[in-house]
Amino acid sequence: MASAPFSRGLHEVAPSCWAWFEPPGSWGLSNSGLVRIGDEVLVIDTQNDVGRARAVRAAATDLGGPDAVTTVVNTHEDGDHWFGNMIFDDARIVATTAAADGMRTLRVDPRRLADVGDEGTALRRWSRWRASIYDYEGWRPVYPTETFEGAHTLKLGGAAVELRAVGPAHTGGDAIVHIPEAGVVYAGDILFHRSTPIVWAGPVSNYVAACDVILSLDPAVIVPGHGPVAGTSGVRETRNYLSRLLEHATRCVEAGTPLEQAYRSFDPGEYRLWSHASRAFQSIRAVYAELRPDLVGLSWQDAMEIVLADDAS
Ligand SMILES: [Zn+2]
Repeated sequence: MASAPFSRGLHEVAPSCWAWFEPPGSWGLSNSGLVRIGDEVLVIDTQNDVGRARAVRAAATDLGGPDAVTTVVNTHEDGDHWFGNMIFDDARIVATTAAADGMRTLRVDPRRLADVGDEGTALRRWSRWRASIYDYEGWRPVYPTETFEGAHTLKLGGAAVELRAVGPAHTGGDAIVHIPEAGVVYAGDILFHRSTPIVWAGPVSNYVAACDVILSLDPAVIVPGHGPVAGTSGVRETRNYLSRLLEHATRCVEAGTPLEQAYRSFDPGEYRLWSHASRAFQSIRAVYAELRPDLVGLSWQDAMEIVLADDAS
Protein backbone atom coordinates (compact mmCIF):
# COMPACT_ATOMS: atom_id res chain seq x y z
CA MET A 1 0.00 0.00 0.00
CA ALA A 2 3.03 2.23 0.43
CA SER A 3 3.10 2.34 -3.36
CA ALA A 4 -0.25 4.18 -3.56
CA PRO A 5 -0.40 5.98 -6.92
CA PHE A 6 0.15 9.74 -6.79
CA SER A 7 -3.18 10.71 -8.28
CA ARG A 8 -5.67 13.23 -6.97
CA GLY A 9 -7.93 11.97 -4.20
CA LEU A 10 -7.97 9.45 -1.38
CA HIS A 11 -5.58 6.48 -1.16
CA GLU A 12 -5.25 3.89 1.57
CA VAL A 13 -1.59 3.78 2.66
CA ALA A 14 -1.86 1.37 5.64
CA PRO A 15 -4.71 -0.24 7.61
CA SER A 16 -7.05 2.60 8.74
CA CYS A 17 -4.70 5.26 7.29
CA TRP A 18 -5.26 7.26 4.12
CA ALA A 19 -3.62 10.10 2.23
CA TRP A 20 -5.40 12.68 0.12
CA PHE A 21 -3.08 13.71 -2.71
CA GLU A 22 -3.02 16.94 -4.70
CA PRO A 23 -0.56 16.32 -7.56
CA PRO A 24 1.85 17.58 -8.70
CA GLY A 25 2.43 18.78 -5.12
CA SER A 26 3.96 22.09 -6.17
CA TRP A 27 3.37 25.51 -4.51
CA GLY A 28 0.38 25.17 -2.19
CA LEU A 29 -0.82 21.80 -3.53
CA SER A 30 -0.48 19.81 -0.33
CA ASN A 31 -1.52 16.42 1.02
CA SER A 32 -3.97 15.68 3.79
CA GLY A 33 -4.10 12.60 6.02
CA LEU A 34 -7.14 10.72 7.26
CA VAL A 35 -7.03 8.14 10.06
CA ARG A 36 -10.06 6.14 11.19
CA ILE A 37 -9.98 4.88 14.78
CA GLY A 38 -13.19 3.26 16.02
CA ASP A 39 -15.96 5.52 14.81
CA GLU A 40 -13.78 8.66 14.77
CA VAL A 41 -11.80 10.16 11.90
CA LEU A 42 -8.70 12.28 12.42
CA VAL A 43 -7.88 14.72 9.61
CA ILE A 44 -4.29 15.92 9.26
CA ASP A 45 -4.05 19.24 7.37
CA THR A 46 -7.12 20.80 5.79
CA GLN A 47 -5.90 21.88 2.35
CA ASN A 48 -5.27 25.30 0.87
CA ASP A 49 -8.74 26.43 -0.09
CA VAL A 50 -12.44 26.00 0.46
CA GLY A 51 -13.14 23.63 -2.44
CA ARG A 52 -10.29 21.28 -1.66
CA ALA A 53 -11.24 21.25 2.06
CA ARG A 54 -14.82 20.31 1.12
CA ALA A 55 -13.50 17.43 -0.99
CA VAL A 56 -11.46 16.09 1.94
CA ARG A 57 -14.44 16.48 4.29
CA ALA A 58 -16.61 14.48 1.86
CA ALA A 59 -13.97 11.75 1.76
CA ALA A 60 -13.93 11.67 5.59
CA THR A 61 -17.72 11.38 5.64
CA ASP A 62 -17.53 8.43 3.24
CA LEU A 63 -15.10 6.74 5.63
CA GLY A 64 -16.92 7.33 8.91
CA GLY A 65 -20.23 9.17 8.46
CA PRO A 66 -21.21 12.85 8.73
CA ASP A 67 -20.11 13.34 12.37
CA ALA A 68 -16.98 11.20 12.20
CA VAL A 69 -14.37 13.98 12.09
CA THR A 70 -13.76 14.75 15.75
CA THR A 71 -10.17 15.96 15.51
CA VAL A 72 -8.01 17.92 13.10
CA VAL A 73 -4.24 18.42 13.35
CA ASN A 74 -2.54 21.23 11.45
CA THR A 75 1.12 20.22 11.01
CA HIS A 76 2.25 23.87 10.71
CA GLU A 77 1.18 27.40 9.92
CA ASP A 78 1.62 27.54 6.13
CA GLY A 79 -1.78 28.31 4.59
CA ASP A 80 -1.87 25.20 2.44
CA HIS A 81 -2.11 23.13 5.64
CA TRP A 82 -4.82 25.05 7.52
CA PHE A 83 -6.78 27.44 5.27
CA GLY A 84 -9.46 24.72 4.96
CA ASN A 85 -10.11 24.67 8.74
CA MET A 86 -13.44 26.50 8.28
CA ILE A 87 -14.89 23.31 6.77
CA PHE A 88 -13.95 21.45 9.99
CA ASP A 89 -15.01 24.06 12.56
CA ASP A 90 -17.16 21.50 14.43
CA ALA A 91 -14.04 19.50 15.36
CA ARG A 92 -11.28 20.21 17.88
CA ILE A 93 -8.29 21.58 15.99
CA VAL A 94 -4.81 20.88 17.34
CA ALA A 95 -1.47 22.48 16.45
CA THR A 96 1.74 23.53 18.17
CA THR A 97 1.65 26.80 20.09
CA ALA A 98 4.13 28.30 17.62
CA ALA A 99 2.01 27.24 14.60
CA ALA A 100 -1.15 28.75 16.14
CA ASP A 101 0.75 32.00 16.75
CA GLY A 102 2.00 31.98 13.15
CA MET A 103 -1.55 31.56 11.80
CA ARG A 104 -2.61 34.71 13.62
CA THR A 105 0.12 36.77 12.01
CA LEU A 106 -0.57 35.88 8.38
CA ARG A 107 1.89 37.38 5.91
CA VAL A 108 -0.64 37.24 3.07
CA ASP A 109 -4.42 37.22 3.39
CA PRO A 110 -5.50 34.63 0.79
CA ARG A 111 -8.44 36.80 -0.29
CA ARG A 112 -5.90 39.36 -1.52
CA LEU A 113 -3.47 36.88 -3.05
CA ALA A 114 -3.65 38.33 -6.56
CA ASP A 115 -2.27 41.68 -5.35
CA VAL A 116 0.95 40.32 -3.87
CA GLY A 117 4.15 41.63 -5.48
CA ASP A 118 4.76 44.56 -7.81
CA GLU A 119 3.41 44.60 -11.36
CA GLY A 120 5.78 42.87 -13.81
CA THR A 121 7.56 40.76 -11.16
CA ALA A 122 7.80 36.98 -10.96
CA LEU A 123 6.18 37.26 -7.51
CA ARG A 124 3.11 38.97 -9.03
CA ARG A 125 2.81 36.34 -11.80
CA TRP A 126 3.09 33.56 -9.23
CA SER A 127 0.49 35.20 -6.99
CA ARG A 128 -1.93 35.59 -9.92
CA TRP A 129 -1.45 31.95 -10.87
CA ARG A 130 -2.18 30.89 -7.31
CA ALA A 131 -5.22 33.16 -7.09
CA SER A 132 -6.53 31.58 -10.31
CA ILE A 133 -6.35 27.97 -9.08
CA TYR A 134 -7.39 28.39 -5.43
CA ASP A 135 -10.90 29.26 -4.29
CA TYR A 136 -11.29 31.61 -1.29
CA GLU A 137 -14.92 32.57 -1.86
CA GLY A 138 -16.41 33.04 1.63
CA TRP A 139 -13.13 32.13 3.31
CA ARG A 140 -12.55 32.92 6.96
CA PRO A 141 -9.71 31.93 9.24
CA VAL A 142 -10.47 29.24 11.82
CA TYR A 143 -7.69 28.81 14.36
CA PRO A 144 -6.63 25.82 16.49
CA THR A 145 -8.71 25.18 19.59
CA GLU A 146 -5.91 23.29 21.39
CA THR A 147 -2.16 23.78 21.32
CA PHE A 148 0.82 21.80 22.55
CA GLU A 149 4.59 21.89 22.81
CA GLY A 150 7.04 18.99 22.77
CA ALA A 151 5.43 15.55 22.67
CA HIS A 152 1.65 15.18 22.96
CA THR A 153 -0.64 12.15 22.92
CA LEU A 154 -4.13 12.38 21.43
CA LYS A 155 -6.67 9.76 22.47
CA LEU A 156 -8.94 8.78 19.62
CA GLY A 157 -11.46 5.96 19.84
CA GLY A 158 -9.38 4.40 22.62
CA ALA A 159 -6.14 4.45 20.60
CA ALA A 160 -3.12 6.74 20.86
CA VAL A 161 -1.94 9.16 18.22
CA GLU A 162 1.46 10.64 18.98
CA LEU A 163 2.21 14.24 18.03
CA ARG A 164 5.71 15.64 18.16
CA ALA A 165 6.72 19.27 17.78
CA VAL A 166 9.88 19.38 15.67
CA GLY A 167 10.11 23.08 14.81
CA PRO A 168 11.33 25.61 14.21
CA ALA A 169 12.47 23.95 11.00
CA HIS A 170 10.47 24.38 7.77
CA THR A 171 8.35 26.92 9.68
CA GLY A 172 8.25 28.06 13.31
CA GLY A 173 5.63 25.51 14.40
CA ASP A 174 6.23 22.19 12.62
CA ALA A 175 4.84 18.96 14.02
CA ILE A 176 4.65 15.36 12.84
CA VAL A 177 1.88 12.85 13.53
CA HIS A 178 2.76 9.24 14.36
CA ILE A 179 0.26 6.38 14.25
CA PRO A 180 2.33 3.71 16.06
CA GLU A 181 -0.03 0.78 15.44
CA ALA A 182 -0.02 1.36 11.70
CA GLY A 183 3.66 2.31 11.37
CA VAL A 184 2.69 5.56 9.64
CA VAL A 185 4.10 9.06 10.04
CA TYR A 186 2.36 12.11 8.58
CA ALA A 187 5.38 14.36 8.16
CA GLY A 188 3.86 17.70 7.12
CA ASP A 189 6.45 19.76 5.25
CA ILE A 190 9.41 18.11 6.95
CA LEU A 191 9.15 15.96 3.84
CA PHE A 192 8.70 17.26 0.30
CA HIS A 193 9.03 13.90 -1.36
CA ARG A 194 11.02 14.01 -4.61
CA SER A 195 11.02 17.81 -4.75
CA THR A 196 13.27 20.43 -3.21
CA PRO A 197 12.44 21.36 0.40
CA ILE A 198 12.30 25.01 1.44
CA VAL A 199 13.40 26.38 4.81
CA TRP A 200 11.26 29.37 5.79
CA ALA A 201 12.30 29.47 9.44
CA GLY A 202 15.25 27.21 10.22
CA PRO A 203 17.72 26.63 11.71
CA VAL A 204 18.47 24.11 8.96
CA SER A 205 20.13 21.94 11.60
CA ASN A 206 16.69 21.63 13.27
CA TYR A 207 15.19 20.52 9.95
CA VAL A 208 17.89 17.82 9.74
CA ALA A 209 17.10 16.86 13.35
CA ALA A 210 13.38 16.64 12.46
CA CYS A 211 14.27 14.14 9.71
CA ASP A 212 16.17 12.15 12.35
CA VAL A 213 13.10 12.12 14.61
CA ILE A 214 11.07 10.55 11.79
CA LEU A 215 13.82 8.01 11.05
CA SER A 216 14.05 7.09 14.76
CA LEU A 217 10.39 6.01 14.65
CA ASP A 218 11.24 3.59 11.80
CA PRO A 219 7.87 4.00 10.06
CA ALA A 220 6.85 1.72 7.20
CA VAL A 221 5.01 4.57 5.48
CA ILE A 222 5.57 8.31 5.49
CA VAL A 223 2.96 10.66 4.06
CA PRO A 224 4.78 13.85 3.05
CA GLY A 225 3.32 17.34 3.06
CA HIS A 226 3.81 17.43 -0.71
CA GLY A 227 4.46 14.62 -3.18
CA PRO A 228 3.89 10.86 -3.24
CA VAL A 229 4.00 8.52 -0.26
CA ALA A 230 7.54 7.63 0.89
CA GLY A 231 9.57 5.12 2.86
CA THR A 232 12.45 6.06 5.12
CA SER A 233 14.77 6.40 2.10
CA GLY A 234 12.78 9.49 1.04
CA VAL A 235 13.45 11.10 4.44
CA ARG A 236 17.12 10.13 4.24
CA GLU A 237 17.40 11.84 0.83
CA THR A 238 15.90 15.07 2.20
CA ARG A 239 18.21 14.86 5.21
CA ASN A 240 21.23 14.43 2.89
CA TYR A 241 20.17 17.34 0.69
CA LEU A 242 19.74 19.66 3.69
CA SER A 243 23.04 18.58 5.24
CA ARG A 244 24.78 19.29 1.94
CA LEU A 245 23.13 22.72 1.69
CA LEU A 246 23.98 23.56 5.31
CA GLU A 247 27.61 22.59 4.80
CA HIS A 248 27.91 24.72 1.64
CA ALA A 249 26.14 27.74 3.12
CA THR A 250 28.18 27.60 6.33
CA ARG A 251 31.41 27.52 4.31
CA CYS A 252 30.18 30.52 2.29
CA VAL A 253 29.24 32.45 5.45
CA GLU A 254 32.70 31.81 6.90
CA ALA A 255 34.30 33.07 3.67
CA GLY A 256 32.07 36.19 3.67
CA THR A 257 30.57 35.17 0.29
CA PRO A 258 27.60 37.33 -0.80
CA LEU A 259 24.28 35.46 -0.42
CA GLU A 260 23.38 35.33 -4.10
CA GLN A 261 26.83 34.02 -5.00
CA ALA A 262 26.45 31.32 -2.35
CA TYR A 263 23.20 30.28 -4.06
CA ARG A 264 24.63 30.32 -7.59
CA SER A 265 27.58 28.15 -6.52
CA PHE A 266 25.48 25.53 -4.70
CA ASP A 267 25.62 22.09 -6.30
CA PRO A 268 22.78 19.88 -5.05
CA GLY A 269 24.57 16.82 -6.49
CA GLU A 270 22.30 13.84 -7.08
CA TYR A 271 19.28 15.97 -6.09
CA ARG A 272 19.71 18.51 -8.86
CA LEU A 273 16.79 17.08 -10.86
CA TRP A 274 14.26 17.59 -8.08
CA SER A 275 11.64 20.17 -9.02
CA HIS A 276 11.85 23.70 -7.56
CA ALA A 277 15.66 23.66 -7.28
CA SER A 278 15.67 27.45 -6.80
CA ARG A 279 14.11 27.03 -3.35
CA ALA A 280 17.74 26.54 -2.32
CA PHE A 281 18.06 30.32 -2.37
CA GLN A 282 15.57 30.78 0.46
CA SER A 283 17.09 27.87 2.42
CA ILE A 284 20.62 29.28 2.08
CA ARG A 285 19.18 32.66 3.10
CA ALA A 286 17.89 30.98 6.29
CA VAL A 287 21.43 29.82 7.10
CA TYR A 288 22.75 33.33 6.52
CA ALA A 289 19.96 34.85 8.64
CA GLU A 290 21.03 32.60 11.48
CA LEU A 291 24.81 33.00 11.21
CA ARG A 292 25.44 36.37 9.54
CA PRO A 293 22.23 38.45 9.30
CA ASP A 294 24.32 41.41 8.13
CA LEU A 295 25.04 39.52 4.88
CA VAL A 296 21.32 38.92 4.05
CA GLY A 297 20.04 42.40 3.21
CA LEU A 298 16.94 41.15 1.40
CA SER A 299 13.25 41.30 2.24
CA TRP A 300 10.97 38.28 1.94
CA GLN A 301 9.65 39.65 -1.37
CA ASP A 302 13.17 40.16 -2.76
CA ALA A 303 14.09 36.62 -1.82
CA MET A 304 10.93 35.19 -3.40
CA GLU A 305 11.65 37.14 -6.57
CA ILE A 306 14.93 35.24 -6.97
CA VAL A 307 13.34 31.89 -6.08
CA LEU A 308 10.44 32.38 -8.51
CA ALA A 309 12.38 33.92 -11.38
CA ASP A 310 14.51 30.76 -11.44
CA ASP A 311 11.60 28.37 -10.83
CA ALA A 312 11.08 26.40 -14.02
CA SER A 313 8.86 23.72 -12.51
ZN1 LIG B 1 3.06 22.96 2.37
